[in-house]
Amino acid sequence: MKKFLTLSLTLVCLFAAGALSAAGVKNVIWIIGDGMGPELMGFFMQGARYAGLEGYPDNISHLEKMMNKGSWGLYFNNTYDTVVTDSAASATQMATGVLTRPEVIGRDFNGKDVKTLMELAKEKGKSVGVVSDTYITDATPAGFTAHASGRGQKMEIARQQIASGTDVILGGGLKYFNSGENALLLGRAKLQGYHVVKNKKELSKVKSGKVLGLFSDEAMPLAVELYKYPQMPALVEMAQKAVEVLEQNKEGFVLMAEAGKIDWAAHANDAGAVLAEMKTIDALIAFAVEYADKHPDTLVYVNADHDTGLGTFVYRYIGRSERARKTARGEAVYGGGTDYASFNTYKLLEKQKGSLYTLERELRALPAEKRTKEHIQERLSQTLGYEADISDFYNLSDISGIFRQLNEQRGMSWATQNHSAAPLIGVAYGEGAERFTGVYHNTDILLRLKDVLGWNED
Ligand SMILES: [Zn+2]
Repeated sequence: MKKFLTLSLTLVCLFAAGALSAAGVKNVIWIIGDGMGPELMGFFMQGARYAGLEGYPDNISHLEKMMNKGSWGLYFNNTYDTVVTDSAASATQMATGVLTRPEVIGRDFNGKDVKTLMELAKEKGKSVGVVSDTYITDATPAGFTAHASGRGQKMEIARQQIASGTDVILGGGLKYFNSGENALLLGRAKLQGYHVVKNKKELSKVKSGKVLGLFSDEAMPLAVELYKYPQMPALVEMAQKAVEVLEQNKEGFVLMAEAGKIDWAAHANDAGAVLAEMKTIDALIAFAVEYADKHPDTLVYVNADHDTGLGTFVYRYIGRSERARKTARGEAVYGGGTDYASFNTYKLLEKQKGSLYTLERELRALPAEKRTKEHIQERLSQTLGYEADISDFYNLSDISGIFRQLNEQRGMSWATQNHSAAPLIGVAYGEGAERFTGVYHNTDILLRLKDVLGWNED
């Protein structure tokens, strides 16, 4: 970096101030794992290292490789006056560099609009894009592309996303662009020059220009359920297309790609779904790092907006109960009374074929007389993708209790179904990555990015 700075300064002396921005990084790929607390990163990385996760023959995740090659630091995400945050405030703080309040989009804590990274990049002549596997008007992409008093104003957010001329918009949430007060929004987008696409095939045909891709009415499905929707692009496919289109701008681009379902899976305390979502973001990381290797004027930054769930393996006391011991997963049950959790559990989590959240809702909707032990056992087994053992489960009329007991049986502990204030890990790779070390706050990210982009020196 020192060399780089010296070179920049030399360039300034030779060519005056205008040359400086040209010395900064050209492209930024910012990957946000919604809800990806450090314990969930660890849960996934440890599985890749020691449990033989499918798709990791070298026993190392792309996240770990990026951490080894790049730079990383620890940061907090508190809002103006609260310890815990939500995705709206966090995205806003990251995209604008100022403190705000929970649920606010693109405004400071006084309710005043603040320019986002995407607006600043547009002013610099760059192309900008947002990609998400939830719905594109959701809090994280909204914080980068809109200004609103509340994250619930999805119709208003959709209109602003089109009006702002965000070059690439890919995700779910079609209904916010084609119904109610926004019934004509897709037509307006086409008039503004957007290719409007609704499935993987149509997306693959877009080769340049602005693109608005909306692949489901609401949020896109969880990774564990994506196999049911072959017409939908995967998150990494959306990001690849975004980069293919955005990189045609000679001034460069800024892309924010969100893996939004880590949060959803963690809210449901669903370890199998979290694992699949972590593989999803890992594929995205692999693509971005490879791109930066081929295009050294690119910075990749991977972080989270907040933690969700505080979920991790724990040991559990099972005593000498033969019933509990029967389901113990630990490789060794030390002293006969403690189950220290087994790496085999990862292999079970990988088999999952559906979402526990969906199953929980399904079971709740069922009349009590149909919620027999046999039925629960059958549906749970189908969702988990292996023969579930609920023989020692108690009080099956308590639906959330069933899932609590499932977690307990696997040695998974979740502190909450909500967000926590756990400090987060931000990982940077590429030119200027070393700016993202130490301990910081999520409002510092934009300032550091501006440094790397050469914007603070204008
Ligand atoms: Zn959340």
